[in-house]
Amino acid sequence: MHSQNDEVAAVSVRGTTRVVGVFGYPVRHSASPPMHNAAFAALGLDWVYVPFEVAPESLGAAIAGVRALGMAGVNVTVPLKEQVAPYLDAVSERARLIGSVNTVVNDRGRLIGDSTDGPGFLAALAGAGVEITGRKVVVLGAGGSARAVVHALAEAGAQVVVANRTPERARAMAERFASVGNIDAVPLTEEALREALRGAAALVNTTSAGMHPQENEMPPVPADALEPTLFVSDLIYNPAETRLLALARARGCRVQNGVEMLVQQGAIAFSRWTGIEHPPVDVMRAAVQNAIRRRTP
Ligand code: NAP
Repeated sequence: MHSQNDEVAAVSVRGTTRVVGVFGYPVRHSASPPMHNAAFAALGLDWVYVPFEVAPESLGAAIAGVRALGMAGVNVTVPLKEQVAPYLDAVSERARLIGSVNTVVNDRGRLIGDSTDGPGFLAALAGAGVEITGRKVVVLGAGGSARAVVHALAEAGAQVVVANRTPERARAMAERFASVGNIDAVPLTEEALREALRGAAALVNTTSAGMHPQENEMPPVPADALEPTLFVSDLIYNPAETRLLALARARGCRVQNGVEMLVQQGAIAFSRWTGIEHPPVDVMRAAVQNAIRRRTP
């Protein structure tokens, strides 16, 4: 049964309705449909955002569907983000470098791919008043989300230190982005992190350590290296407060979970599709929080 404020009730689909959506596998837990549909409803736009479960072997056909159906665009999520580029007409330099596309815009029949994850992450930091240009930022992890975050930080002029459980992946990423900015790679150990965090402006967890259902896990960050001047960001939003964020908060650090990055990357995609420069981010944030609350056990 749908609750009174369920997003389904707000959507009215007509012959004129513009369609966007998300391709993922699986996709049923995505918070993006409620987030975008709430924004369309708040602005009275005749648009709808639909989740599509697309098996990797059907991705080419699904992208052909975007063209055939005249969809305004799509988001692309795990595991398709790294596979979609060959089906598009062009991808941004950023998407090419990080090897991932999360937003496709249908520009009068030409499908253009970009990644709004990195810019969304930077917008989340900026919204919290965190200055990173010329400052050291320590990033934990070297997976897909780390590539977007590290690229964005390096491009914005931060001195990035990447620490990963599999050190070769961190080194490979530092080499891959060497032309973008200043990136060092270190192992994910207490000793290396204590050294790396000295004088750092921010610590960002992009690993899945601590994500539901492994809430008890935590990257090996030594508590005594968490100075109150450090800003600590965790890309995880389920649970809302990971063990890392709880520890950082107890040490007096300002903290931020992954909700804001999710909202900001969505707001940028929304702008690209609709041309609306200032999407209703407060509405989008509330819809995401509501969606996460409803699906959290
Ligand atoms: P991914 O590509 O699979 O990468 C996972 C990373 O986590 C790798 O660096 C891996 O290290 C590391 N890792 C996994 N388990 C670990 C552990 N127990 N201890 C230490 N390191 C561990 O995943 P992803 O796509 O980057 O996603 C990572 C997290 O970010 C997920 O929690 C995801 O929900 C979140 N995320 C949030 C947003 C947002 O908008 N807020 C967007 C994207 C992702 P190895 O290289 O050694 O395996």
